[in-house]
Amino acid sequence: MIVAEDMYRLGSQRSAIRELFEYGKQRAAVVGAENVYDFSLGNPTVPAPDCVNETIRSLTESLDSISLHGYTSAQGDLETREAIAQYLNRTYDTHFRADNFYMTMGAAASLSICFKALTTGPEDEFITIAPFFPEYRVFVEANGAKLVVVAADTKEFQINFDELEKALSPHTRGVIINSPNNPSGAVYSEKTIQKLAELLKRKSAEYGTEIFILSDEPYREIAYDGVTVPYVTKYYDNTLVCYSYSKSLSLPGERIGFVLVPDEAAESANVYAAVAGAGRALGYVCAPSMFQKVLVQCIGQTGDVELYKKNRDLLYEGLTKIGYSCFKPQGAFYLFVKALEPDADVFCEKAKEEDLLIVSATGFGCPGYARISYCVDEEMIRRSFAAFERLYQKYEQ
Ligand code: PLP
Repeated sequence: MIVAEDMYRLGSQRSAIRELFEYGKQRAAVVGAENVYDFSLGNPTVPAPDCVNETIRSLTESLDSISLHGYTSAQGDLETREAIAQYLNRTYDTHFRADNFYMTMGAAASLSICFKALTTGPEDEFITIAPFFPEYRVFVEANGAKLVVVAADTKEFQINFDELEKALSPHTRGVIINSPNNPSGAVYSEKTIQKLAELLKRKSAEYGTEIFILSDEPYREIAYDGVTVPYVTKYYDNTLVCYSYSKSLSLPGERIGFVLVPDEAAESANVYAAVAGAGRALGYVCAPSMFQKVLVQCIGQTGDVELYKKNRDLLYEGLTKIGYSCFKPQGAFYLFVKALEPDADVFCEKAKEEDLLIVSATGFGCPGYARISYCVDEEMIRRSFAAFERLYQKYEQ
């Protein structure tokens, strides 16, 4: 082969989730879209707040084309970074400055940038806590490091600290956390974050290394019933926040987010420079100019989170009534359900026979579970219950 084999593999094999989504489209052409219950993707269905389109209209009218569509500085417009700093300081009582932020093309870019910035050699490791977003493996390995997986705490979907302690080593460069979590819907409590901070401080001191927390936060604002999502930098100095507006502002196709490097982080100026260097080496150049300007006007707004909560309640109540064992999501828009047999891959294949498209969590590092994405049309959830019932009955017989 004349190309890089690992890149060929990534490009020629779809992810299991995409595979299922494509299958759903084919099935819809055969049995009708209303008879396919596609719970595969995490594509927001709640519209972006009005502010987004209103700002785009006003920007196209008030700014000349060069100011609107030209390159921004690599780290992002000062006005945007200032607006983000002020918003976070107001909301979380933090003390960030514009220069703590590096604008990116969403969380995927933020994570890739951080892995590249922190990887110093092939022995370096990043730890992820199951269940985890499968693309972490792609990003970590593409940047020359190793991904180490810590088994899930399947009771509360917080952190299995015994397993995490065993996984930490002098090679650990960072621990990736994602709360609210895709796929479990769990939100890490303040106690969990405090315990994590204590463990990492102790281990950093023991090894004489700096261990970072990479906080992947695309779902930060999608949390229900008043649950608090602690701001991780307040508990642990070596925290890099990988934020995205894909879900909070329902803008996944526009690619906008940031990396936050707090002043408290070890060698923060060097880390920030390496973040900028990684962005440059990965060819990101700058984050989308127009959406940086949209953020200045729309920061702090979100799509209507209540609509996701309505879907969560409907689905959780419907499935538990049938007899499924589900973890009640505290945030994000995924419901984690226990498969009705040990092999979740087989369970999801059986679901497929009922045109229920749900994703096995084997790929999320959590065997025996499936993910049901509920950023879907409410009516589809209602229509799907009969199929979930048939699936349940298959196992009852
Ligand atoms: N991290 C998690 C946990 C996600 O679920 C996603 C997207 O679904 C991403 C990162 C990537 O998000 P973005 O669109 O901001 O790149």
